[in-house]
Amino acid sequence: MNTNEDTNIEESINKEIQIEKPQVIEASGDQTKSDKEESDKPAARKPRPRKPRNKSDKPVADPAAAEKANAEKPKADKPKTDKPKANKPAPQKAKTDAAKAAALPGSEAVTETAPKAQSKSGTKAAKVKSDKLRIIPLGGLDKIGMNITAIEYEDSIIIVDCGISFPDEDMLGIDLVIPDISYLKNNLSKVKGFVITHGHEDHIGALPYVLRDINVPIYATGLTVGLIDHKLKEHGLLTKTKRKVVKHGQSINLGAFRIEFIKTNHSIADASALAIYSPAGILVHTGDFKIDYTPLFGDSIDIQRFAEIGKKGVLALMCDSTNASRPGFTPSEIKLSKTFENLFTEHNMQRMIVATFASNVDRVQLIINTAHKFGRKVVLQGRSMVNVIAIASELGYITIPDNTMIDIKQVKNYPDEKLVFITTGSQGESMAALSRMADGSHKDVRIKPGDAIIFSSTPIPGNEKAVSKVVNELTMKGAKIIFQDTHVSGHACAEEIKLIYSLLKPKYSIPVHGEYRHLAAQAALANELGISHENTFLLKSGDVLELSKEKGRVIDKVQSGEIYVDGLGVGDVGNIVLRDRQSLAENGIIIVVLTLEKGTNHILAGPDIVSRGFIYVRESEVLMKEMRNVINNALDKCQTRNVTEWGKLKNEVRDDLNDFLWKKIRRSPVILPIIMES
Ligand SMILES: [Zn+2]
Ligand SMILES: [Zn+2]
Repeated sequence: MNTNEDTNIEESINKEIQIEKPQVIEASGDQTKSDKEESDKPAARKPRPRKPRNKSDKPVADPAAAEKANAEKPKADKPKTDKPKANKPAPQKAKTDAAKAAALPGSEAVTETAPKAQSKSGTKAAKVKSDKLRIIPLGGLDKIGMNITAIEYEDSIIIVDCGISFPDEDMLGIDLVIPDISYLKNNLSKVKGFVITHGHEDHIGALPYVLRDINVPIYATGLTVGLIDHKLKEHGLLTKTKRKVVKHGQSINLGAFRIEFIKTNHSIADASALAIYSPAGILVHTGDFKIDYTPLFGDSIDIQRFAEIGKKGVLALMCDSTNASRPGFTPSEIKLSKTFENLFTEHNMQRMIVATFASNVDRVQLIINTAHKFGRKVVLQGRSMVNVIAIASELGYITIPDNTMIDIKQVKNYPDEKLVFITTGSQGESMAALSRMADGSHKDVRIKPGDAIIFSSTPIPGNEKAVSKVVNELTMKGAKIIFQDTHVSGHACAEEIKLIYSLLKPKYSIPVHGEYRHLAAQAALANELGISHENTFLLKSGDVLELSKEKGRVIDKVQSGEIYVDGLGVGDVGNIVLRDRQSLAENGIIIVVLTLEKGTNHILAGPDIVSRGFIYVRESEVLMKEMRNVINNALDKCQTRNVTEWGKLKNEVRDDLNDFLWKKIRRSPVILPIIMES
């Protein structure tokens, strides 16, 4: 979900993101080999020598240009601070240095192979391998968004996903919410890398912020890396960050872990599940997924691989819960092609505008295909739409037939019935292209009577009001709004979840990605399938779940939480500031200015009253006069009681004024007395 929009499509197209073709690393195990060789104890086996195919990570960085191009976007380039890395004593330093070195472009300090200590049986052989795996979610379990989980085995930590969530309505002025990663900062030397399941904001959005403290390599599939690169470029981090493209079926070694990327289906191409092999057993993380036997783009989910891994014995499964409470199967994206064809036929004399998520690349593909079939030209609207589709097309994840896409400036050369706009704003986001069309502020597009506007998405809970506002505005302009049947979910329903469980047969179930009720719905499914209550874990952010073959339990709680991003500030707006903002927003502010004589405390000037967001002063002279009286009386009272300390004077003024206003008009604005001395 991208909400930052920019109507200037021409500019957006012109500044077309230059996508660096991410390098493909040679993954450590081709399938056949790994099948024979791998057990659930990969760290025990000798690490295979790896061909360093990934010569130099020479990113084609042009951060300066990218930054200029994106100057209108809020950035957060805070100077890098080397915060004290706390806690860990001796070994910390050496490895921290290594990590720092890895931060430098071209550096090869971080390896994907297992550390040397493991291969040389001499050094650590004497040490008995632990059979305990730790799973530490740092977000993603309270609401949908901000997915990030640390997986820890002895001295190795890998981080699965690193997403943002969007602010709630009461988080005034907050742009984004990112996870608190103190735990990772305190264990920096253990952190080996990020493994990312797919390119949605709730899985990659926090990377540019988190990387400032934890600069370890990022591993993901092609489209995911493409989308991450775009983000890093905007934040000027591209040259400082190592990214590696992993193909489905390939594995990488990170510390004590081997991680295999498995093909899944979702609403964006190149989504992966992860099989994480550790000496303590195999953990499977599904990422966001559905089972689509007839996907629009690419192959179906690699169900066979899930079955093979199931045969090896799976310790634990972390599975997408978003649709766990919905029975049955999520329909295939292909089901929509008929619906869209019908809509195109029905509205063959009208201009069409389709609103959907920019990140729903497959949906955009479907609309483009249909437009092509019906001889319509396609115009993309909204900054994130233009960006994401440019990246997907550049990397070959979307196919745009020749002469289908046109620029907004060419629109005038075509009649309405030969045009389709694909736009952002399906969630009623106020800055998105569709909202601007709706309120008439769009630079290039005016809604006309007869326009057919299709919402190809369902409102995310909480967005209904905003969507309804946009729909009303569009309707007032005479447009026809179409909602039904033009969306299928990208997440698995109950039967699909049950299939994955049945194939993997995990000992432990850890539902992820959802609100509590979604997690609970999956837990119920797991229980139905024979996984006991004690082996099912409804975790909270910060819980440290320790699993072994014998038992699993939450053994600890680490610091976790939400950090607010406001403009360029990361974490500088906390709860106190937010409370003030709420109070100011609800009640406004009154500033009382007085000048007192030094020594005597006689009033020399004032009280002057300035207010904002409280009452319209010019029409409230009587009230203002009464307020001045209240202030004068409060000061007189202090005078007779010989109260001279200014702090007390201010309190007295504030309290009396507060009482008065509450009694008089039932309001309690923020009152700020300022005393000057003369
Ligand atoms: Zn997703
Ligand atoms: Zn997600």
